[in-house]
Amino acid sequence: MDWAGIFIYDTTWVFAVEILIRVIVMFILIISFLRLTGKRGVRQLSIFELTIILSLGSIAGDPMFTEDLPIIQAVLIMSTVILLYRLCTWAMRKFQHFENLLEGQSLYIVEEGRLVLDKIEKGKMSHDEFFAEMRQQGVEHLGQVRTGLLETDGNFSVLLYPPEKTDYGMPLFPKQYQPVEQIELGVHYACMHCGHVEYILEPNQLCRRCENKCREWAKALNSRIVR
Ligand SMILES: [Zn+2]
Repeated sequence: MDWAGIFIYDTTWVFAVEILIRVIVMFILIISFLRLTGKRGVRQLSIFELTIILSLGSIAGDPMFTEDLPIIQAVLIMSTVILLYRLCTWAMRKFQHFENLLEGQSLYIVEEGRLVLDKIEKGKMSHDEFFAEMRQQGVEHLGQVRTGLLETDGNFSVLLYPPEKTDYGMPLFPKQYQPVEQIELGVHYACMHCGHVEYILEPNQLCRRCENKCREWAKALNSRIVR
């Protein structure tokens, strides 16, 4: 058994420094690419934590079966990753700016029962994605929602109106979230683009809030939430 081979093999000081640089570059690359996807974290993990797991994950396995990858290099890489992790968490605590850069900010998606328009138009999130999130929390329509906040870890926080304050709102379930073909006058409809509710009195009325970009109305609901 060649113990020196397993642990050190051909590692020189120069190569050790090279590893250090490689790890830092890859670390920055991983985090940038994850941020570029526009996704929030996955299952309670923020983009930053995901980066750590990805970086540690690949290096943990390879030395187990790769002959010319000595343990010392794996240890060096892992230590660098941990060091970067410590450095970043320290900097994130200290500088809000840095935290926003790494993890993004929490975003208001729903305010007072209506969708926050610029977030949707910039494509930060698709309708489907947060409809699903709200449905899972038992929300039937936007009239029940006071505030919906997209957290940096990808979770969705919802504040509800108390039942007596529930208003008409855009339906969130697919069967109800359908454009109506014939508008009945004197009924509440919700704009399917922004969630704005209007009590319609003339047949060709357009949504006042999205400035006529939208012509599709779904029948608004006002059922109270049951918990
Ligand atoms: Zn609208």
